Amino acid sequence: MTLLVAAAFLIGPSLPVASSRGVKPLFTIGVQAVGKVSKDDLRAVAQSLKRWWVAVRVLPSSQAPKRFLLSSGRYQAQPWAEEVERGIPKGIDKVLILTSVDLSARREGVEDWRILGYSAHKGKVALVSQSRLLGLTVGSEKISKSDLTVRLALHEISGCFGVEECYWTKCLGYPHRGSVKRLAETTFQFCPRCSNTLWQVGVII
Ligand SMILES: [Zn+2]
Repeated sequence: MTLLVAAAFLIGPSLPVASSRGVKPLFTIGVQAVGKVSKDDLRAVAQSLKRWWVAVRVLPSSQAPKRFLLSSGRYQAQPWAEEVERGIPKGIDKVLILTSVDLSARREGVEDWRILGYSAHKGKVALVSQSRLLGLTVGSEKISKSDLTVRLALHEISGCFGVEECYWTKCLGYPHRGSVKRLAETTFQFCPRCSNTLWQVGVII
């Protein structure tokens, strides 16, 4: 009996593992462009999510809500995300917003801290700002704006599935702390620990 319980724990939730690709995914992620976001970048993010075992739906594009605009020109990420979460469309479990506007959060006693992206741990909404995602070179590797957007998007949405800050610098779960350079130093992959966190909730990557 003890052995069975232990085995069930190791296996995790009752997931259809062997035939997962032929079974309806547990989560549907709505991807939405807000502001001046290129269709190619939106498509790149949607395609990257489709490699996970999740359903992806592109939501109608919109404009950034002015009520969250600060005098600095940044938008308050947390109340924005909370508002989206309250009105989340039926059939959508998580929303990933890709936006051209700058984002802001309260951090370390600073009211208007510029951030690259935002998601509440195990929340339903992730915000990703492209405003600072210009292409850059790390070592001999040129990393495009689109690549950075995908990395940031996967990083933020993974937080909605419970992935916590990772210590492995190449992992997508690694905290970039607002640094585009640090974001660029990650890969497109999650480490085994973060992959397992996603797997445990039913997101197979
Ligand atoms: Zn990791």
